[in-house]
Amino acid sequence: MAERKENIVMFPFMAQGHIIPFLALALELEKKGYTITFVNTPQNIKKIQPFISPTSAIHLLEIPFDPSAHGLPPNIETTESFPPLIMIRFIVTSPALQPAFRELISRLVHLRQPPLCIISDMFFGWSAKVAHEFGAFHAIFNAGGGYGMAAFHSLWLNVPHMKEKSEEFSIPGFPKGHQIHIKQLPDHFHYAVAGDTWCSFSQEMFQDWKESDGILFNTIEEIDHVGLDYFREQIGCPVWPIGPILSSLGSKARAGEEAQSTLDHCMKWLDSKPENSVLYVAFGSQSAPSPSQTIELAIALEASGKSFIWVIRPPINSATNTDDRGGDWWLPRGFEQRIHGRGLLLQCWAPQLEILSHKSIGAFLSHCGWNSVLEALSNGVPMLAWPMMAEQHFNAKMLEEEIGVCIGVDIGSHEVKSGDIMETFEVVMGETSKGKDMKNKVCEIGHMLGEAKKDEKKWKGASTKAMDDFLSAVLSKSYNLALERQMN
Ligand code: UDP
Repeated sequence: MAERKENIVMFPFMAQGHIIPFLALALELEKKGYTITFVNTPQNIKKIQPFISPTSAIHLLEIPFDPSAHGLPPNIETTESFPPLIMIRFIVTSPALQPAFRELISRLVHLRQPPLCIISDMFFGWSAKVAHEFGAFHAIFNAGGGYGMAAFHSLWLNVPHMKEKSEEFSIPGFPKGHQIHIKQLPDHFHYAVAGDTWCSFSQEMFQDWKESDGILFNTIEEIDHVGLDYFREQIGCPVWPIGPILSSLGSKARAGEEAQSTLDHCMKWLDSKPENSVLYVAFGSQSAPSPSQTIELAIALEASGKSFIWVIRPPINSATNTDDRGGDWWLPRGFEQRIHGRGLLLQCWAPQLEILSHKSIGAFLSHCGWNSVLEALSNGVPMLAWPMMAEQHFNAKMLEEEIGVCIGVDIGSHEVKSGDIMETFEVVMGETSKGKDMKNKVCEIGHMLGEAKKDEKKWKGASTKAMDDFLSAVLSKSYNLALERQMN
C-alpha cells in the first residue's frame, strides 16, 4: 500500500453548515492520499466518530471548549436553533479557541505529525498566524458562495448607515450595475453600527483573512465569477473555486442512529410520488420562520394542493424556542390530519442531500444557506428563496437576478401572506414559461457543476484543476520552507 501523504489539519466552526462541507472536503483529500486531522469540540467529535471507519486516514481530535465560560448555555457546541443574540455570542467567542488550537498544533509537531497545511473555517482566520508559526501553509475553506460572501464582506467593511442610504445603492467593490435594495439586506445590516460587537468581530475576521495563503470556495467560476473576482481584488490572495464539495457523511453523523430509518421512510414516500411533483421545504440547521410566518406557510402549503416535504422546527423567538403549550402549537389546528398522505412533516434531522437527489422533487423552498443552494443546483432543482440571515439574502439575490434559477418568496418583508407564497409555488411548479426557463437553467448549471469535478485521464474539470493548483501551492511552500531550513 502506498504510504500516506502528510497531515492536513482541518478545523471548521461548530455549526452544521460548516462541519458538513469540511467533512466532505476531508473525504476528498483523504482520497488523494493525505492524512487528515479533523478538529472540533468534544460533542461534535463524538457525533462524527461512529461514522468514520477505523481504517480511515481521517483522525478526529477534540479541542476543549467551555461554553459557560463565555456566558453561553452549558453543553452548547453548535449553533442549532439558537436565538440570534446567542448565536452571535457563540460566533464571537471563536478567537478564544486560539490558545487551545495552538497547543494542539504544537502537540502534533512534538508527535512528529506536523501539519503540512491548516485548512480553517472563515471564522478562524486567526489560525493563519498559528499555521505560519509552525511552518504550515494556511487556507480558509469558505462555507459560503463567492457572490454572497463578497457582498457580506463589502457591507461589513462599509457598514451601511441606513439613514444615509437611498432605497437602492451599489455594493462597494462590485462591478457597475450591481445595485442592492435596502429590502434585500439581512436584519443585522439594518441596525449595525461601526464598533458594535458583531461589526467589530466581522471586520477583524476579514482583516485576519489577509494573513492566509489563500481561500478555497465551494463553488465554480461560471456561476460565481463576480464574487471570486471581488476577493481576488480585495484580499489579494489566491482564490480556488473547488466546488461542489458535497457528501452526506456529516449530515448522517448529525442524525445519528435515526439516519437510516429516516432515509428509508423519505425514499419510500418519494418513490410513491410522480416525477418533479414534490416541493421540499427546509430552512437549514439553525433557522426557522417566525410563528406568524410559519402559519402563513402552512396555509399556503395546504391550499396549494401540492405534495410536499417540510422539515419543520419550532419557530425560534428572541428568548427561547421552547413553549409551555407543548406540541405543535405553531401549526394551524388539525393541519397534520388534513395534509396526511400529501405532506410529509419531518420534525427530525432530514436526509436533505438524498431528498434533493430524488426525481420526485420539483422545487426547493429554502433559506438559501450555501450548502443547500449547492445541493439543489447540483441536482437540477429550482429554488424559492426565504433567506433568514448572514449572507443568505445575497445568495438569493444572485440566484434570482444573476443566474435565474430562483424566485424570492420573502426577502426581508417579514410579513408575507399565504396567497403570495402560493403564487410563487405556482410559478415554479406550474406549467409557466418562467418555471420552465428556471428548470432548464438549473439543469444546465447542474451539468456544469458535474463537469467541474470530472477527473479523467485526459480531461479535468475546472474544480479538479483548482484543487490540483491548491495542493501544488501547499507543496511548493512546504518545499521552499524545507530548503530555507537546510540553507540556514
Ligand atoms: N441539513 C440536513 N438535514 C437537515 C437540516 C440541514 O441534512 O434537517 C444539511 C443540509 O443538507 C446542508 C446543511 O445541513 O448540508 C445546512 O447548511 P446550509 O448552508 O444550507 O445552512 P445553515 O444550516 O448553515 O444555515
